[in-house]
Amino acid sequence: MSQTPFPFLGPTTPTIFERSRPGRSGTSVPRPDVPTRPLEELIPARHLRASPPRLPEVPEHEAVRHYTEISLKNHHVDRALYPLGSCTMKYNPKVNEQMARLGGFAGLHPFTPAEAVQGALGLMHELGEMLGEIAGMDAVTLQPAAGAQGELTGVLLMRAYHQSRGDVQRRRVLIPDSAHGTNPATVALAGFEVSELKSNEAGRLSVKALREALDDRVAGLMLTNPNTLGVFESAILEISELVHEAGGLMYMDGANLNALTGVARPGDMGYDIVHFNLHKTFSTPHGGGGPGAGPVAVMSHLEPFLPLPTVKSDDGVLSLDWDRPQSIGRIHGFYGNFGVLVRAYTYIRMLGQSGLREMAEAAVLNNAYLSARLESRFPLPYGRGMHESVFSGTELKKQTGVKTLDVAKRLLDYGFHAPTVYFPLIVAEALMTEPTETETKEELDRYADALLSIAAEAESDPELVTGAPHATPVRRLDEGRAGRELDVRWNFPEG
Ligand SMILES: *Cc1c(COP(=O)(O)O)cnc(C)c1O
Repeated sequence: MSQTPFPFLGPTTPTIFERSRPGRSGTSVPRPDVPTRPLEELIPARHLRASPPRLPEVPEHEAVRHYTEISLKNHHVDRALYPLGSCTMKYNPKVNEQMARLGGFAGLHPFTPAEAVQGALGLMHELGEMLGEIAGMDAVTLQPAAGAQGELTGVLLMRAYHQSRGDVQRRRVLIPDSAHGTNPATVALAGFEVSELKSNEAGRLSVKALREALDDRVAGLMLTNPNTLGVFESAILEISELVHEAGGLMYMDGANLNALTGVARPGDMGYDIVHFNLHKTFSTPHGGGGPGAGPVAVMSHLEPFLPLPTVKSDDGVLSLDWDRPQSIGRIHGFYGNFGVLVRAYTYIRMLGQSGLREMAEAAVLNNAYLSARLESRFPLPYGRGMHESVFSGTELKKQTGVKTLDVAKRLLDYGFHAPTVYFPLIVAEALMTEPTETETKEELDRYADALLSIAAEAESDPELVTGAPHATPVRRLDEGRAGRELDVRWNFPEG
């Protein structure tokens, strides 16, 4: 238990409202020495509140201590490695935050006329061009607010494309069994049918299974590359050709682009559509569920269907293009999550072309190193992945009774976030780590040492592991109940 990082944190922290005492105040601004007018003269009475809002009354340092304490009860990438596979929890450079907070960006009103927001539109236009270049594709929409919404956009684009050609019977979308859960969910939401394809022993899409599944009812194939096992779909050119020959479209779930950026382009692999997870590949803190951005890039035959509006440039004068009769319509209010676009833009500009390639290479190298350090104790049924690897805890469970879930919980005691567990579904006792390029060798070693020492604990003292976590503010929670009876409100005490 010597590794316990923050033992001083108790299980309960009072809410900021419970710290509040009437009359305490964070700042004391001097009274103005110029004449003022009563509010009632400035704002019509019907718009004025009858009573002040019920805000907590605490001095500034109490507020700072409160939020600092809460931040230490949680894990975040500013504290330590966050090896959540498939999520690309990389460090987010603070300069991105500074840019997103610039008054000219953060203070923009979405109804400001285009001629007054040329800078913001210019950033969007350039970001679209850079993403198009990275994808090897012709046109981009920045609107979707998440990867999953990018997927929905992509499948709606597929639908619009087939409809425009009178190919309305194409309602099946093929998805491998290793896919992220959002892929089948998206297809169902778009009113299409999912056909699952088996992966082969190497963890790749089976070309044989694909051939058998293709017919004139197939709208397209959704294929992550490298897939969620971290394995590159090396038959991708053949796969794309087969799908296109059958009249289908190729959709790439681009959440794993951290492995490829600057090295290989989805457009060159034969994909027609790809979504980006800006909040994964191009930084932006996203541990708390958002905000994110899931832009979609397409080949020219799909451009007419992109969501409304797009940013267009006429001799350098930027505007929003609403005149797009074949568009699938709006996907998001206004223009998407603009602050995330600013962060991604900053990140891409900061790294530049060669930096983006180095990013992907370092992500793959870091994962190779981590995999090599761990594979003797945690086998890799599908081998070392590119930017992430899926280990199996089956042997450990057989030998000691300790499950992958227990290992993940014990890691919290060592001060790490748990990796992704029990996903992808085709690996038993899956433990999926993605170290990202931002971690140092020392941090990777610290993490590998922790996992190896947990494996040793599983042999010598299995209860220590099955009873973990021991050092966190709360222990094992009833996750099922938390999901079903979620209640995160705080009620003011009566009176
Ligand atoms: C994260 C992820 C998604 C979904 O992205 P969100 O932004 O969370 O909606 C889809 N596919 C894969 C492979 C992912 O890792």
